[in-house]
Amino acid sequence: MNAHPIIIRMQATDNVAIVANEGGLPAGTALPDEGITLRDKVPQAHKVALVDIAAGAAVIRYGVPIGYARTAIAAGSWVHERLLDMPAARELQGLPMATVKPAPLPPLEGYTFEGYRNADGSVGTRNLLAITTTVQCVAGVVEIAVERIRKELLPKYPNVDGVVGLEHTYGCGVAIDAPEAPIPIRTLRNISLNPNFGGEVMVVSLGCEKLQPERLLPPGSIPIADKRGEEPALDVVCLQDSAHVGFMSMIDAILATAQVHLERLNARRRETVPASELVVGVQCGGSDAFSGVTANPAVGYMADLLVRAGATIMFSENTEVRDAVEQLTSRAATPEVAEAIVRELGWYDQYLERGRVDRAANTTPGNKAGGLSNIVEKAMGSIIKSGTAPIAHVLSPGNKLAREQRGLVYAATPASDFICGTLQLAAGMNLHVFTTGRGTPYGLAECPVIKVATRTELARRWHDLMDVNAGRVADGELSIEEAGWELFRLLLDVASGKKKTWAEQWKLHNALVLFNPAPVT
Ligand code: CA
Repeated sequence: MNAHPIIIRMQATDNVAIVANEGGLPAGTALPDEGITLRDKVPQAHKVALVDIAAGAAVIRYGVPIGYARTAIAAGSWVHERLLDMPAARELQGLPMATVKPAPLPPLEGYTFEGYRNADGSVGTRNLLAITTTVQCVAGVVEIAVERIRKELLPKYPNVDGVVGLEHTYGCGVAIDAPEAPIPIRTLRNISLNPNFGGEVMVVSLGCEKLQPERLLPPGSIPIADKRGEEPALDVVCLQDSAHVGFMSMIDAILATAQVHLERLNARRRETVPASELVVGVQCGGSDAFSGVTANPAVGYMADLLVRAGATIMFSENTEVRDAVEQLTSRAATPEVAEAIVRELGWYDQYLERGRVDRAANTTPGNKAGGLSNIVEKAMGSIIKSGTAPIAHVLSPGNKLAREQRGLVYAATPASDFICGTLQLAAGMNLHVFTTGRGTPYGLAECPVIKVATRTELARRWHDLMDVNAGRVADGELSIEEAGWELFRLLLDVASGKKKTWAEQWKLHNALVLFNPAPVT
């Protein structure tokens, strides 16, 4: 335990700061720089009042009110969530639209990685065979086929990094003509076209399901031409096909189809490509009060480096940006982009209202134990991941970024780790950066996930799960800029396949979860 008390204030106007010491600080600890003495024991990452705060007065962190004091709070007190009333959400009218014009960031040139160039120009960081499924009914069969491909076929194709079944719970038993059904359908379509799958699309279908293969991947959706310059027919193994007699016939058909795609994937080689081909999705999960102090600011600096390199960086998580909507709309590159932010967040407000909740449903017991009092405080620490560049584009859930949509992108997704990751895959993500304070073993089979710990204590305990320890920022060992550069360089190494993330080494893979706001039947 560090005997010297360390407390972190984010902005000069803040009337609270967080305790950085491992194990927290005991009551009676003197904080001479602030001229106060702790009246309570304050756990690590939790807030201490720097001045007397009157009942009803604003508690300020990140320079904004994160709550209002329910009772008078004396200087030196532990400011926990039970002492705060949450501010109301900002209305979506009358927002500043594209009012902030930051000076352009200087270009960053000469950075490259080794990637797999695809026919549509996009670049993969891994060379994977993906098997698309139209419906959950085929999942068990595909799982067994994938295991056999891994054991029997992959050893013959050493340039292929792996095989992944794109399983999900959609496809049948759903209101497939509902106005919002296009969201899960296009998500699945666009994931099949993720750059890490090399344009090799194969589908396993049951036969009688609502989501027919032609509806999932209509003509024109696969940007690959055969030798005659024509789009090849969709490669479908249909389990109800009368040709299949018995279970092994289905497995054999999937393996035979896979082999054709594996041959082509195996012929591919990595080539040097500019860093501008990175499409990085960032999100957080299991956040604590350090998230907004160490890991997320480091990711924000990394985001600026990516923008400067001409790459694409997506941030997401609607409920975690909602309380910072003014900061987003004002930072939009154009009024149209600002309007798109308002449209997406307004749609999401209504989606939550239908379930009779609001953005406050986001925070978890772990967030609160980690010092985050409410969603406002969580949001202020979350959006720092986006850095300082203007928001260049907004993406609706399930849509795919066009090649020319570079720079900082707000991909409007739920904050659920799995749904957000799934939607970022659909957007075309080829690398994922995930920050965590409480700790999560999250990983995706489709794309490398770099996990960043907000605290040294977590990084030490989870030494073989966390790829980067941003807690060194709070320990005074590393500046935010240095941490950002370290992340940027790590991205290039991981993208090149020179380094594997811990989640890849352990093969820690969470399931894809499609966002289906439409009814099921
Ligand atoms: Ca999340």
